[in-house]
Amino acid sequence: MRLTDYDGANIAYFMSSNAHKTAARRLTDAKRVVVKVGSTLLVDAEKGRLNRAWLETFTADVARLRKRGQEVILVSSGSIALGRRHLGLGAGKLKLEESQAAAAVGQIRLAHAYKELLDHHELTVAQILLTFEDTEVRRRYLNARGTLNTLLSLGSVPVINENDTVATAEIRYGDNDRLAARVAQMIGADCLVLLSDIDGLYSADPAEQPDATFIAEVHEITAQIEAMAGGVSSAMGSGGMQTKIAAAKIAMGAGCHLCIAKGAYQHPLKRIEDGARCTWFVPSSTPVAMRKQWIAGSLKPAGAVRVDEGAVKALRGRKSLLPAGVTGTSGSFGRGDTISVLGPDGTEVARGICAYSDKDAARIMGRKSREIEALLGFRGRDEMVHRDDLVLMTN
Ligand code: GLU
Repeated sequence: MRLTDYDGANIAYFMSSNAHKTAARRLTDAKRVVVKVGSTLLVDAEKGRLNRAWLETFTADVARLRKRGQEVILVSSGSIALGRRHLGLGAGKLKLEESQAAAAVGQIRLAHAYKELLDHHELTVAQILLTFEDTEVRRRYLNARGTLNTLLSLGSVPVINENDTVATAEIRYGDNDRLAARVAQMIGADCLVLLSDIDGLYSADPAEQPDATFIAEVHEITAQIEAMAGGVSSAMGSGGMQTKIAAAKIAMGAGCHLCIAKGAYQHPLKRIEDGARCTWFVPSSTPVAMRKQWIAGSLKPAGAVRVDEGAVKALRGRKSLLPAGVTGTSGSFGRGDTISVLGPDGTEVARGICAYSDKDAARIMGRKSREIEALLGFRGRDEMVHRDDLVLMTN
């Protein structure tokens, strides 16, 4: 849905409440939703205490999404803001070691609050603390992704934060907007909601320019959009509008919708569904399509596997590649690398992300998936290349 095109640019300035309600289907129809909760919502600015009454209404929203069958992942800030009071750290900017200490104290309280409140809805909370390398280094990325997928398939609600206690200034996100976008990208989420202290993107900082125009929808992040983000910053959290735009870039590149909405109301997600004003960033494609596009575009696959006729047929019928159909491997590749799938005559039939290294692939090829554990000593994926990670090559 594109409402008002401005100057041919990919921006919609005005949307009625009804149009916002329609736009909110991106949230209600999403299978996997990531919600980022900013510090300002969770922690009372003056007293430095957890804003429990608000969190109760928010967790009730989360429970409603779960009841509808949606998977929900929370990326929650607030550990530093919560912990500093308990350590007697006054107002003002903290030194790195102080914020690391505050995070250690605050995180346990934060996790406890989520646990207690989601317990009321019979939802199991899982805490995950990520470092920058967990999303940027391939092997760790795959591990984090695997754990998150398992937790979701078992019906729990992961609550994620940066592991601020061990993160150092040089290698950290520092803001949870981008972290949330990386998480959304990692697990192929279709919707990411950034709940913050501002209701969306404006043509200029509304605190400085009261006549700044609200932007309801963005289809492409142009230089004009980046300029709008300027230096708008938040009182307590680390993110400003710039980190939200950076997050939107990551999300859109992964085929994920992103919404910036004001969270300082009771039932903030319900409010979005009911048509409250917010800014939507709309990708041109879906997460699976974006992923496939990326796989197809891998310039140089790390290696290849050769498969038999039966496997070629299965792949053309949109099935996954099982070890049983593989007859040989070549090149050196790791788990998670892109490989070529070659037919019996050596032509490239498909390209995909391999769930095994070349050595493990060689050990399990030609065998049944149920033999994998006995052959490798661990129970990996049944598929050598899952169909969601596979693109057929048209010759
Ligand atoms: N990870 C930080 C915390 O939990 C917050 C980062 C942010 O404000 O975005 O306190």
